[in-house]
Amino acid sequence: MGDLGEYRRKRDPQRTPEPVPDPAALPTGNDDTFVIQEHHATRLHWDVRLERGGVLVSWAVPKGLPTRPGDIRLAVHTEDHPMEYATFEGTIPKGEYGGGRMFIWDRGRYETLKWSDREVQVVFDGGRVKGRYTFFRSGRTGKDWMVRRSDPPQEPDREPLPEELEPMLAVAGTLPADDEHWAYEFKWDGVRALARVEGGRLRLHARKGNDITARYPELRLLGEELGSTEVWLDGEIVALVDGRPTFYALQQRIHAEGERAIRRAAADTPITYLVFDVLHLDGRSCLDLPYRDRRRLLEGLSLAGPNWHTSPSYPGEGAAVVEAAREQRLEGVIAKRLTSRYFPGRRSSDWIKIAEIRPLEVVVGGWRPGEGRREDTLGSLMIGVPTAAGLTYVGQVGTGFSDEVLRSLTAKLRASERRTSPFVNEVPRDRARGARWVTPKLVGEVEFLNWTTDGRLRAPRWRGLRSDKGPQDVEIMELPDGR
Ligand code: MN
Repeated sequence: MGDLGEYRRKRDPQRTPEPVPDPAALPTGNDDTFVIQEHHATRLHWDVRLERGGVLVSWAVPKGLPTRPGDIRLAVHTEDHPMEYATFEGTIPKGEYGGGRMFIWDRGRYETLKWSDREVQVVFDGGRVKGRYTFFRSGRTGKDWMVRRSDPPQEPDREPLPEELEPMLAVAGTLPADDEHWAYEFKWDGVRALARVEGGRLRLHARKGNDITARYPELRLLGEELGSTEVWLDGEIVALVDGRPTFYALQQRIHAEGERAIRRAAADTPITYLVFDVLHLDGRSCLDLPYRDRRRLLEGLSLAGPNWHTSPSYPGEGAAVVEAAREQRLEGVIAKRLTSRYFPGRRSSDWIKIAEIRPLEVVVGGWRPGEGRREDTLGSLMIGVPTAAGLTYVGQVGTGFSDEVLRSLTAKLRASERRTSPFVNEVPRDRARGARWVTPKLVGEVEFLNWTTDGRLRAPRWRGLRSDKGPQDVEIMELPDGR
């Protein structure tokens, strides 16, 4: 320890703003100051540096110093740094050694209790870290060290971040009458996910607690952005198509298996994590806090990044929020009682889901080819629902298909063509023109705004095939006008 040769070899003074000192001009001190820099390099870590013999003896701690005595964390012994480095904050250019943003996370004085080649025991007295820590060699090479806290916890009443938490669920319902006691959020059509962040590392849990971290690699950066903030977040993972969450697009992310397929799917269909609640924050459970206070804490985190956002919440004015959801063709609205606590894993009437866009199972009875570029594939599907009279035509759906779905659906439909319409009612002539009829075998799900007075779907949109169902599984309906 105490040699800056390696430090200099790795850095080009022409290209990095880090201090690269003249070897003859090293400052000296009293071996009692330290600095901890949060370093957003390829992998986030905290550089713990102790002034010793005129240099900064350094360890890179990937998850930061532990706060509890039982926690032993990796601490990679790195090359000594010059004293000038103790004041460095800034961005090291990409491609240079240690490229990335770096800032001072803490600094202060320390006292040495023991210092050998195998073990360093110090007492930190910084702005954030106070107490006795032991760095000890753990492997054969000089780089492999570990660090543990040797004092009782700095904040004994700090609640550790839970390992598992389950999401709170809503009941279906309508707009509450006491509007001023509620806040309203848009209901997103995606995958519910809770995120746990500790030491800059993010873990994602789906509804039943299964770990889905590897499926959404773009959210690793959210963990790194949160740095040393310990937190559990609640939100929805969505795939945006034309700015609107679209479940069919998300499906390829849900079904991608294996690292390569996941990486390809992530490049094709990036996701956005819409965060709407905070369940634990920096040593304190938020479950018993009223919704209103949890929202304030959440907004204080200012979560806004390339793949994550804070989902908006509107206190009062439920009818206006429902109207906005309808205009935006969102699935609906969730009303949340302002005073309500968070009940993990429970369905509670403090959260009410008000569905706007309605899903409906339909049977495909025909299709019309597309125009221009889409001549070879289908332009729209002729859809019906089973009624007492038989399969009844309810409209035509031409949106909501990805190119891949268009191709595979067209192939399936070509294989089951027939000469006559399978619908018991008459399809309007302008709709029937150019139509190709099929044996009704395929079941799909559409969403729509409402029924027209003559029993047609208004603004239907394709959501996906229900390959798990056949026409006989679709519920027999009574259409709005009695047909
Ligand atoms: Mn570093």
